Amino acid sequence: MLRLRNTLSGELEVFTPLDGETARLYSCGLTVYDYGHIGNFRTFVSVDILRRYLKYKGYRVLHVMNFTDVDDKTIRRAREEGISLRELTDRYIAAFLDDMRTLALETPEIMPRATEHIPEMVALVKRLQERGYTYRSEGSIYFRIAAFPEYGKLSKIRPEHIKPGARVDVDEYEKADVRDFVLWKAPKEPDEPRWETELGPGRPGWHLECSAMSMKYLGETFDIHCGGVDLIFPHHENEIAQSEAATGKPFVRYWVHTEFLLVEGEKMAKSRGNFYTLRDLLERGFDPMAIRYALLSVPYRTPLNFTFEGVRAAEATLANLRDFLWRVREARGEPGSNPAIADVLRRAAREFEEAMDQDLNTAQALGALHTLVGEVARAVISGALREDDRWQILDWIRRVNQVLGVLGEIEPEPLDPELHALIEERARARARRDYARADEIRRLLYERGIILEDTRSGTLWRRRRDLPKEPSGGARG
Ligand code: AMP
Ligand code: ZN
Repeated sequence: MLRLRNTLSGELEVFTPLDGETARLYSCGLTVYDYGHIGNFRTFVSVDILRRYLKYKGYRVLHVMNFTDVDDKTIRRAREEGISLRELTDRYIAAFLDDMRTLALETPEIMPRATEHIPEMVALVKRLQERGYTYRSEGSIYFRIAAFPEYGKLSKIRPEHIKPGARVDVDEYEKADVRDFVLWKAPKEPDEPRWETELGPGRPGWHLECSAMSMKYLGETFDIHCGGVDLIFPHHENEIAQSEAATGKPFVRYWVHTEFLLVEGEKMAKSRGNFYTLRDLLERGFDPMAIRYALLSVPYRTPLNFTFEGVRAAEATLANLRDFLWRVREARGEPGSNPAIADVLRRAAREFEEAMDQDLNTAQALGALHTLVGEVARAVISGALREDDRWQILDWIRRVNQVLGVLGEIEPEPLDPELHALIEERARARARRDYARADEIRRLLYERGIILEDTRSGTLWRRRRDLPKEPSGGARG
């Protein structure tokens, strides 16, 4: 049974979808005024792990992740650059979709843009007006939080600190500024993006966007809502207020928030010069799968200290894992299964699942994988690995990788037929005790980037790591 820590209750709760089979999941997407930074990607990777693990557990997943393509930040940036809002947000949406592929993030089933859901937002404001939760001031429409006594239940702020009638117009503000927030913003500047609607000219507040898009695709009550911890207040608190005030129903069943990513122990900030986009890291030559590995190696509810050494260590770990896969694939063993190995596998599978079931403890889940790798690697060398073990291990790692997504496609790595023929020729040479020829072939292969290792499970090959990467496929760094 999967247990998730629910920010709303503060408790670990057993997860079951409302309808018993499909997990309906909304995650707040990128505000598309710039490239995503690695802090954003920590949250997106953790949501990706959640959606992949839900599928592993046999649920169907309906995942909506929006693009915030109109808010204070996008409007300000478009104005600074002297381009239209659409031009700006198209550019960063395309970049984000690219970055998602680079990090092996699965594509959510629905990726709505806020600007394409203005009618839904207007309808939501009208429902709130009808139910008496709003008031108007200078053309803008505000949510009256004093009318919603449960305000503060997610972020645990105490509503008595709220100053009645005090308003806030900006999308982002601090807890000290708990005030009536804006649902619909009347234009203040002549060049401000606006929509002519029944509410008058204007644009939606950021919080309204997510309520309208999530309920449109997932229903008025849905299973899981995710985002980084910085969204708990005011964004998610306001989403709850607007949605529940409008529908009279619980909005979200499980709130799941990812802790911050810190850089070298400090808050990541442009002003500190420790602010990295994914692209910055790729330019420094880091393997994107190692970045993904580093991001997911710490459980999502624990702050993650991002360091370059951490990514380098992840690169080495991944190289070892790939090495291990090749060893198991290439090893030749006796038919059947070795009960001791079958035991190692059963234990790893149990530990992996127990760790993930416990609020997605990825650190422990990886621990289970590495323990198995250590024990099976020894069995390969000693010749204890049998044929059925090999397939069962590869199969399990394939399943685990459907959740972790750090190993790419696990397919047999093809070896150049010419090199393959040389390995076979060497085996024949060894069989007739022509060790001079066997050594010569070993040298030849080494020059071609292949290292041989004779084990009791046969001769294994792997690629040298000290050679430059080939432009496509094959070699690994
Ligand atoms: P934004 O584009 O600012 O709306 O952020 C997109 C997502 O990234 C949200 O879920 C944020 O909570 C999350 N996020 C922003 N900064 C960080 C950070 N340093 N660590 C983890 N998540 C973050
Ligand atoms: Zn949101």
